[in-house]
Amino acid sequence: MSDSPIAPIQRVTVLGSGVLGSQIAFQAAFHGFDVTAYDVSDDAVAAAGPRFEQLVGVYEHDRVKGSENGGARAALDRIRLTADLGDAVREADLVIEAVPESLDIKRDLYEKLAGVAPEHTIFATNSSTLLPSDLKSFTGRPTRFLALHYANHVWQQNTAEVMGTTDTDPAVYEAVVDFARRSGLEPIEIKKEKAGYVLNSLLVPLLNAAAGLLLEGVADPATVDKTWRIGTGAPLGPFQIFDVIGLTTAYNVSVASPDEGSQYFAAYLKENYIDKGKLGTATGEGFYVY
Ligand code: NAD
Repeated sequence: MSDSPIAPIQRVTVLGSGVLGSQIAFQAAFHGFDVTAYDVSDDAVAAAGPRFEQLVGVYEHDRVKGSENGGARAALDRIRLTADLGDAVREADLVIEAVPESLDIKRDLYEKLAGVAPEHTIFATNSSTLLPSDLKSFTGRPTRFLALHYANHVWQQNTAEVMGTTDTDPAVYEAVVDFARRSGLEPIEIKKEKAGYVLNSLLVPLLNAAAGLLLEGVADPATVDKTWRIGTGAPLGPFQIFDVIGLTTAYNVSVASPDEGSQYFAAYLKENYIDKGKLGTATGEGFYVY
């Protein structure tokens, strides 16, 4: 299969139309790609429609270049929705998988996908915590498989971390880097597999250190953030970043982490913020009031 020519990527199918899948599909359609959005059931497909509609407003509100004069709305005409996997991928050059972060769900989907996708189709996972090596054996095409990792709010935080396995064909890797660039993203070329990619390899230790300073009583959030902003020139401090990520996500990550400090931080977040409905910028209050 690695000998098949690499088709120039034009038709894209996104599997899963939740938080990230809807953004990935919309971003590609906004940049002129023909996109098919697949979800697991008719109900899930029906729920995706309003998410795409909402993204039109978001692109316009945030003045994403090209969204004026109906440019954002035009993207909707390039998105087709379906709950039929075979139909979804029949003509796909690239399939981007953004289904829940569960090895079982992803395995099941890749095994089905391997049976119905054309030979030339490249598969990419958007998984944040699984390595592409964890999934490659289910794909039936390890040479045409890699990770393409988007950040939440892709129209602003437009990194696309591209990370292959030792099996990934370099020409496939290049085709995906090229696709990322043509869909308005900044490709981040990662040379070897690394949990957390580049962004979370940097961000997670920063956030953990900030939580430690707070829990040890060394400094309050505003002092930690001020230090980081003035000392490095960064626009946001770590507790401001926590608020943007959402404290529920921070809680879930902390609970899942085996170390004692993370468990302590999870309990602290629950008691002081989550149980009081203070979930970050999305609810108007977290470490800060917005
Ligand atoms: P989500 O729960 O918002 O969306 C998942 C979608 O997948 C839902 O629409 C669901 O109906 C659908 N789905 C469930 N089972 C399916 C199946 N068998 N086939 C097809 N679709 C199915 O999740 P999300 O936050 O969009 O995360 C999806 C992936 O993106 C995960 O791997 C996650 O690690 C990654 N990711 C998430 C973020 C983030 O900030 N949320 C950022 C980067 C990467």
